[in-house]
Amino acid sequence: MTTNFRRNFPLNVSLPSSNNIYNRLKRLLFLLALPLLILGCDTLRVDNSAGEVGALVDGEDSGNVVNDQSESGNGSGQVSFTLDNLESASAPNRNEVIVFGEDRAPRRESTPWTSDQDEFTIALGNRLSVPVTVWIVQGPFADQRDHAIDACIRTSTIWDSERMGIRFSEFKIRDATSDPDIDNDILNSTGGDSRNWDDFSNDIGFEADRVNIYWINTVEGSTTTGWSDFGGRIVMGRNTGDELLSHELGHAVSLFHPDSCGDTNPNFDTTNVMWPCSSIREFLTEGQIFRSHFNSASSINDLYNARTGEPTVSCSGAANTAECPALEKRIWDDGAFPAN
Ligand SMILES: [Zn+2]
Repeated sequence: MTTNFRRNFPLNVSLPSSNNIYNRLKRLLFLLALPLLILGCDTLRVDNSAGEVGALVDGEDSGNVVNDQSESGNGSGQVSFTLDNLESASAPNRNEVIVFGEDRAPRRESTPWTSDQDEFTIALGNRLSVPVTVWIVQGPFADQRDHAIDACIRTSTIWDSERMGIRFSEFKIRDATSDPDIDNDILNSTGGDSRNWDDFSNDIGFEADRVNIYWINTVEGSTTTGWSDFGGRIVMGRNTGDELLSHELGHAVSLFHPDSCGDTNPNFDTTNVMWPCSSIREFLTEGQIFRSHFNSASSINDLYNARTGEPTVSCSGAANTAECPALEKRIWDDGAFPAN
């Protein structure tokens, strides 16, 4: 009966209920707002990628300064990141992005964010190729040549897994064991930063425009110690650990120790390549990799001139300024230290 009754009033059936009107309005409002929601996001594209890609993003978000916000992804060719709607920060060097990548050199570009939907594309640099020459001063030559090759392999492994953006183009090993100029001062070198560097480059040999590594007997009285002049010369003791070469080459590209031997540091430990006393070095932070490439005093710029035309900075130590990501900045985990 009720059904029949309703059939007599078709108008009543076809009218949408108040609930239906509300839903349709909601849908209409959502469709109208959709373009605004899309406009609210910025896009960062990283070109020339070959695997893992990371970015440190600066800008301003809803009035708050965004400082080195980490982004990471993976892909070949191009990797895209969707960001909040960033706007221009008033402070200088706060509207920029630094990109890092597997088998690639980091790059920094300015990104003048606006309130609109911004899109920036930054290309990673090709990995830099640097030659080095090793002089075997303390023999036996064959043993120390193999020792140097092991150090070369360990350094290359660390650089590859940490996305250092550098590789050896040549690892030349020269036999200097019968050089008549070898004396005790050369075999057992002392003096810290002001050691007898010129004895090595003048008497043993020096190949220009590259780092020269002299494998001797002791450094500061120890067979397991090495030293760098922060430029083209490194001395290595007879029994140095294979990972020490990555540390001394870190000095050559302007890096300092994050702290002293025995000190505790909330951001670093013996697993970091630049820790002064260790035999288990393996990690480099993005703050360290940035300094290696961008510091004007780094051998990458100063000795190899491998970044002609690219911007340089002077980021020393742990300083975190508008130009320099913090030394401990990590896009990816380093063992016990998480991305930050
Ligand atoms: Zn050191």
